[in-house]
Amino acid sequence: MSYNPYSLEGKTVFVTGASSGIGRSTAIECSKLGAKLIITGRNIERLQQTFERLEGEGHILVAGDLISKDDINSIIKQLSPLDGVVCNAGIPNTLPIQFIKDDVIQEVFGSNLISPIIITKELIKKKLLKSGSSIIFTSSIGHYRPTSGNSLYGTTKAAIEYFSKYVAKEMASKKIRCNSVHPGMVETPLIHRGNFTEAQLEEDAKRYPLKRFGRPEEIAWAIIYLLSDASSWVTGHSLVIDGGMTMR
Ligand code: NAP
Repeated sequence: MSYNPYSLEGKTVFVTGASSGIGRSTAIECSKLGAKLIITGRNIERLQQTFERLEGEGHILVAGDLISKDDINSIIKQLSPLDGVVCNAGIPNTLPIQFIKDDVIQEVFGSNLISPIIITKELIKKKLLKSGSSIIFTSSIGHYRPTSGNSLYGTTKAAIEYFSKYVAKEMASKKIRCNSVHPGMVETPLIHRGNFTEAQLEEDAKRYPLKRFGRPEEIAWAIIYLLSDASSWVTGHSLVIDGGMTMR
């Protein structure tokens, strides 16, 4: 076996939002580095497609809607002790504040903030996080420069960034690390579901110093760094991966 501090050999990693985009890429790339995956998402067909692309043996697929407490509980029941958790599932939302309705608040907060908090709490309570394990939350760069219409999304992403630091602080004595990743715009189905035309997206990509949006695997590789022993002294950190967009 050649030297590789980024190896995930022997690690079991739980990834939410693995039926699409960044979560799918994260699961696939983790499997290439030797991890055993437990993947979840709502759409069973797309989750199955991810599952079929995983390398190696012993992976588990379990579908569920993380807005439902019952679904979270039944997913958690199927977990074995974990070396890594990637709370990545999330939905976008673009609405001026005056048009926000209660059910949208529940949906966006439920998917992006409340479910990762409940999952983390349950994993800690049920002692499903091994000593030396690593938790990663997918946040965003959106809330670093607030734009009109993004209040709900940006608020959930700011909150999950800070929740990550509290987890890092509380769990450090157990040698459990926690960090967040902050992608700029990444080529996934999510960005094509928003209010932007394809022409507007093309224009937006030119604003990035590297003149393009990210690819899902470029976020997966950052997540792999945080899951692996290569980041064993990194906790409570917010890792920006954005083609230079927010550099000062
Ligand atoms: P995506 O392709 O739309 O994938 C989102 C994933 O989250 C899907 O697997 C989806 O499941 C899952 N999901 C959403 N709500 C869920 C719920 N209530 N229960 C269970 N699963 C749920 O989007 P993506 O771009 O990969 O986004 C992944 C994460 O990155 C999100 O948290 C997003 O906010 C964040 N992010 C994305 C970008 C970007 O530009 N793409 C930038 C910054 C941050 P189903 O498809 O099966 O319903």
